[in-house]
Amino acid sequence: MKKYAKILSLALAVMLAVGLFAGCSQDGSNPSTNPSTEPTTSTEPTNGTLTMATEAGFPPYEYYEGEQIIGIDAEIAAAIAEKLGMSLQIDDMDFDSTITAVQTGKADIAMAGMTVTEERMKSVNFSDSYATGIQVVVVAENGSVASLDDLAGKSIGVQQNTTGDIYATGDYGDENIQRFARYADAVSALSTGKIDAIIMDNEPAKSFVAANEGLKILDTEYAVEDYAIAIAKENTDLLDKVNAALKELTDDGTIPGIIAKYIPAE
Ligand code: GLN
Repeated sequence: MKKYAKILSLALAVMLAVGLFAGCSQDGSNPSTNPSTEPTTSTEPTNGTLTMATEAGFPPYEYYEGEQIIGIDAEIAAAIAEKLGMSLQIDDMDFDSTITAVQTGKADIAMAGMTVTEERMKSVNFSDSYATGIQVVVVAENGSVASLDDLAGKSIGVQQNTTGDIYATGDYGDENIQRFARYADAVSALSTGKIDAIIMDNEPAKSFVAANEGLKILDTEYAVEDYAIAIAKENTDLLDKVNAALKELTDDGTIPGIIAKYIPAE
């Protein structure tokens, strides 16, 4: 990066291109032989702001620690933004609104443990997948649902417009589905016996079960899915850059490291 810093001081115009060079730091930097190499985290954002739409009640992918949204998606997005020479801004909204935010240009990307589906691909493009999600069923430990077979006719909670919502509605009928804007509300409804089960993603399910007495996850997995980043159809330039960044961040161990930090191997 030192080399680039010199170039930068020569011509302001080159500053705009620093995001492109940032991608070269992987092969260009050699910390062991060049102790003065600055950590890439100090790269000054010069290419503006990357805005990310998310629903920040989805631990460990996105959740609040104090005022700050942290988690796997937040950290991967920050690493991508850094590669693009951009700063990252995360906007918390209902999951239901994240795709619209991207479509209308309110956000550059939606990253929300979002599953790739054919239906969503009609509205947005998806990056390459960076993680796997599993739909599971959360129930009360002493409730009436002990296996998937018991779900028929029961009141099932979902987060509005998630794949859990789509599967549950298709398999058990709209009349049996209770839709919530946030999982936390579905979890309190389950804890207070207002609903019998929640169909949701495995990792946040584990986190909610750990934080709330008397809940458990059924052993049978409901569906296995791919998580990816949603980007507006017309923004193919960003899609290419995000995919290139994802590849570099996977190959150099950054993304596996972030995932392992939040989801320790069992
Ligand atoms: N993976 C699920 C989906 O994409 C849920 C995502 C979420 O609620 N944040 O629909």
